[in-house]
Parts: sequence; structure tokens; C-alpha cells
Amino acid sequence: MNKRLLLIPALGFAIMLAHLLSAPAKDHGPWVDPLLEPLVDECIQDMDRAGIAYQRAWHRMDSVLLRPSPPGTVAHVKGRRHVVIDPSLVEKGPYSLRGALYHELGHAVFNLSHHGNGIMHAGLLKEADYAHHWETYRQQYLRTCGWNRHEAW
Ligand SMILES: [Zn+2]
Repeated sequence: MNKRLLLIPALGFAIMLAHLLSAPAKDHGPWVDPLLEPLVDECIQDMDRAGIAYQRAWHRMDSVLLRPSPPGTVAHVKGRRHVVIDPSLVEKGPYSLRGALYHELGHAVFNLSHHGNGIMHAGLLKEADYAHHWETYRQQYLRTCGWNRHEAW
């Protein structure tokens, strides 16, 4: 085989390898849909500020996706490693999206069950309800995550 023909893929491979080696180490957990990234960052910052150890379970997750959910649901955890948020929540409003994301991360990262009237309520709340009570719901949620942190898988 012509040596020049081999050189092109070899060069491509060398460039790819150099890029991989120079890239910063992936220490930020799952792949996150770019549209959900600001809210995921917000949740992580909330955890950091509250001193909650989320890293171990968070790093075991594979993805946080914006994909259609099965009929009758708007968000779910798939195989413990994937959080799936239905795109319809983007239209429902920022607090519905935030509420659903925190809720599913509560299941996936902290093994939380459904309880109370806030973020871990079994059903999706109204946008106005999330918006009006967000600070209260968030504080309740963070307290529960803090208690459950050692149960995170
Ligand atoms: Zn749930």
C-alpha cells in the first residue's frame, strides 16, 4: 500500500490524540444538554453553597437530556444514569423546567422519594406555584438532599 495513503489517517489520529491529551480532565459529571446547562449549574451551585456532597453520585451519571418522555410523564430517570426532561417543559416556564430538573436530580443523585408539596411532590406543580414558593421549596429540597447524601449511590 502507498505510504502516503497511510500517512493521512495516521496524522489525523495523532492530532486527535494530541487534542484528547491536552483537553482538561472531565471532572464535571454527566453530559448535559446545553439548554439545561444553566439550570444544572444553578443546582450544583446550590449544593455547593449548602455544603452537600453530591460529587460521587453525580459523577456516576451519564447524561441530563432534553428528550420526549413517555406519555403521561414530563420527566424521568432512566436506568439511574440518565435524567430525561421533556422539551414541553421549556414552554411551561422556567420554574416548571427548574422544578422538574431539581426533582429528577433528587431521585438520581440523592435517591429521594416523593414527599411534601414542593420540588419532590409526585406531580408537576403549576408554574406560578413554583415561582411564588421557589425559595421555600428550594430550602426544603436542599435540607432533604443534605440528610440523604450518604444514601446517594
Ligand atoms: Zn418523581
